[in-house]
Formats: sequence, structure tokens, C-alpha cells
Amino acid sequence: MPKSIHQDIMIFPNCSALTTRGRCTRLTLSICQGEGCTFKHSCEEDINSFEYAYKRLAALDLSLQIRIANRYYGGEMPWSEAKKIKFT
Ligand code: SF4
Repeated sequence: MPKSIHQDIMIFPNCSALTTRGRCTRLTLSICQGEGCTFKHSCEEDINSFEYAYKRLAALDLSLQIRIANRYYGGEMPWSEAKKIKFT
């Protein structure tokens, strides 16, 4: 087993913030808190959350979408069908 992978990686929960060293990248804690952690999110849950957020953004008025794109997404609208459109 490579040195960089935590020996007991299988005891940790399925969380997208978990590194192979058993550390947490989401919280300021260095070691994962395990299954009981209320911030635990699997990769599938992250994808579902993005999809939900993008559907909500796509349903907004276009002028508001453009304002949000400019402020938070560098002028791009990843939730839009025309993903390459950049509004600046
Ligand atoms: S501490 Fe919580 S958020 Fe961080 S890796 Fe563990 S389960 Fe995930």
C-alpha cells in the first residue's frame, strides 16, 4: 500500500471531502469525524446538490442569471444549455 494512503481508509465514511490520508478538506478539522459527521456528503449527493442548484438558477429571470454569473461564476453560466456563453 502506498505510504500516502491511510492504513485504515476503509473505516472512514463515503465523503467527498475525505482525502486518502483520512483528512478532511471541508472542515477545519484535520482528521475525519466518521459516520456521525453532519457535514458528510458523498460524491453522488454533491452532484445531486449541484443539479438542484443549477435547475433553480436556470429557472430565474435571465437578467438575474447574468448578474449571478458575473458576480459568482466569472461571467459564465454552467447551468445554462449554452455553457460557453460568457456575459461580462
Ligand atoms: S469530517 Fe465530515 S465532512 Fe470531513 S471528511 Fe469526515 S465525514 Fe466528510
